[in-house]
Amino acid sequence: MPATASRLSVFTESVIRGTTRLANQHGAINLSQGFPDFDPPEELLKALEKATRGPFHQYAVTWGAPRFREALARKIQRFSGLPIDPDRHLVTTCGSTEAMMVAMMTACNPGDKVVVFSPFYENYAADAILSGAEPIYVPLHPPDFGFVLEDLVKAFEQKPKAIIVCNPSNPTGKVFTREELLTILRLAEEHDAFVITDEPYEHIVYAPHEHVHFAALPGAFERTITCNSLSKTYSITGWRLGYVQAAPEVIAQARKVHDFLTVGAAAPLQEAAVAGLELPDSYYHELQALYARKKEVFLEHLRATGLPFTEPQGAYYVMLDISPMGFKDDTEASERFIKEAGVAGVAGSSFFREPVHHLIRFHFAKKEETLHAAGERLRKYTSGKM
Ligand code: GLN
Repeated sequence: MPATASRLSVFTESVIRGTTRLANQHGAINLSQGFPDFDPPEELLKALEKATRGPFHQYAVTWGAPRFREALARKIQRFSGLPIDPDRHLVTTCGSTEAMMVAMMTACNPGDKVVVFSPFYENYAADAILSGAEPIYVPLHPPDFGFVLEDLVKAFEQKPKAIIVCNPSNPTGKVFTREELLTILRLAEEHDAFVITDEPYEHIVYAPHEHVHFAALPGAFERTITCNSLSKTYSITGWRLGYVQAAPEVIAQARKVHDFLTVGAAAPLQEAAVAGLELPDSYYHELQALYARKKEVFLEHLRATGLPFTEPQGAYYVMLDISPMGFKDDTEASERFIKEAGVAGVAGSSFFREPVHHLIRFHFAKKEETLHAAGERLRKYTSGKM
């Protein structure tokens, strides 16, 4: 049998998606892969029903159905102030996952270097390898997961083609401040690098923290490739709708990558999602309040375990320090949490470049009753082990 491509031997299947499969096998409450167990807004469900009876069952325009891109441009402008042209600045993709792959393949030549903060969302390493780029890792330091300027300067001295910034950040929950983002921008300008941002949690931020749209920083638009998704904002992770937003010259190239990768995102879902993009500002305020409540419910349970963790500033993940529990490592801990406690979380090492094996990432995008049930199980299990 012929050998498969050697680039595939240097990374594993997603630990996040693998943990979900194990959780399902054992009937555990799944707080590993980040997705809600509640429905999207009623407006989207109604629009979806209607879309099934409309003329939306064949390919949409490759780079995104016009009505979807128009609604998306208006929504982006409403929150970032950027005058987005739906025909020149956007490509609709299958989730931010495809958007990131498109961004990397659009920005990087094989052999180019890309700065990645560690811990990082596990897709970025695979994106880099698949696009032939080589990651340079810059550590983020708890408790607020900031970077050391000197580390970033050194990374940029290696002449990277791009830096990846996940903001709000998965898995750390960090929300980068305007000052931090301006520092990144200044270095990217000095070294003529792209800034590839991944911002699916833009609307899930806890006061007093605020989301800053990187592309809207003064002078940033030309070098920013923004990747985003509707998954988390409208609780539709299974719809696989995302987008790349960038300068027209970049989008012209990104369209080609996207076209040959997937042709397009699902036409009826793009049509239905317009209803989400047109929701009023109050929807986003309620979403913030909803997640702030979920965070409090879940963190209250985690506090009761006595185990250390860092409170997230945004997104819906929290990394629990399980070192006092005496497991061999986080992989064993994650498996035993699933099998013995009935709660699934992701082994933290899958997010780190450094050998970090004492963290489990849980998410709290679940109904309050699910969070209480999981919290009770975690409290019981951890107290029996310490
Ligand atoms: N972003 C989610 C997580 O970190 C999952 C995304 C995915 O599986 N595509 O769990």
